[in-house]
Amino acid sequence: MTKSAPARPILIAGNWKMNHGPAETRAFFRDLRVPELPSGVQLLLFPPALSLAAARSELEQRPEGFPPVSLGVQNIHWEPAGALTGELSAEMARSAGASHALVGHSERRQLFGESDEDTVRKVAATYRAGLIPVLCVGETLEERRKGSLARVLHRQLDAVIGPEGLRTEIATGPFVLAYEPVWAIGTGETATPDDAAEAHGLLRAHLGERLGRTAGDGIPILYGGSVKPKNARELLAAPEVDGVLVGGASLEAESFAQIAAASVSPQG
Ligand code: PEP
Repeated sequence: MTKSAPARPILIAGNWKMNHGPAETRAFFRDLRVPELPSGVQLLLFPPALSLAAARSELEQRPEGFPPVSLGVQNIHWEPAGALTGELSAEMARSAGASHALVGHSERRQLFGESDEDTVRKVAATYRAGLIPVLCVGETLEERRKGSLARVLHRQLDAVIGPEGLRTEIATGPFVLAYEPVWAIGTGETATPDDAAEAHGLLRAHLGERLGRTAGDGIPILYGGSVKPKNARELLAAPEVDGVLVGGASLEAESFAQIAAASVSPQG
């Protein structure tokens, strides 16, 4: 499979989920050794919100020349403040040092009942606060078996870029999309590069239809679902794959660094 040089940035992102408190976060950054990366490659980590401050202070102490690592939060509430025990707002995340927020991760959708309507409110909140949304979409195994891949991806995407959504804001950007087939998250099952290319192709075409070709082509689409050092290179080489969103394999500094290294010379 060949891939022409991407005009979009390549993002290597890690979602730590409910792992790594402040002490483990400090240890992670002390252990992290990343090779020199091409200028278009960006690193991004989503620690638990309670560990953002530790991540930020470790990053400030890294030696000169260490590749920059952006930080994000795994979830936000759409209200800026209020009587919402246990929630955090996009504004708070921004002032704590986050530049990105995950929205619509399948664990939020499946375990916490996050709806398509919620994803619209959350994406709107990220823009209000100056955060970059990373919207996760993906089908379950059952939906895939029923042949509903395109229908599910279009529905999840249309919630935010359709007529009722935030088409203008998203067309102007920045906006990041992550294709995360639910059957491949935390299961060890990985989409093949052809599976990823098919889904990313559907998403790219739909972005173009809704936002216009130029705006649609500018949006990076990450692949997520059991990405490991051993399969990162071939996934990154697949057409329309502009980076990876990594769960389990981003928890160890060494494996995250190996995945980042795979972006240096993806197969093509
Ligand atoms: C994720 O949670 O976004 C994810 C892709 O997890 P994993 O890499 O562990 O499948």
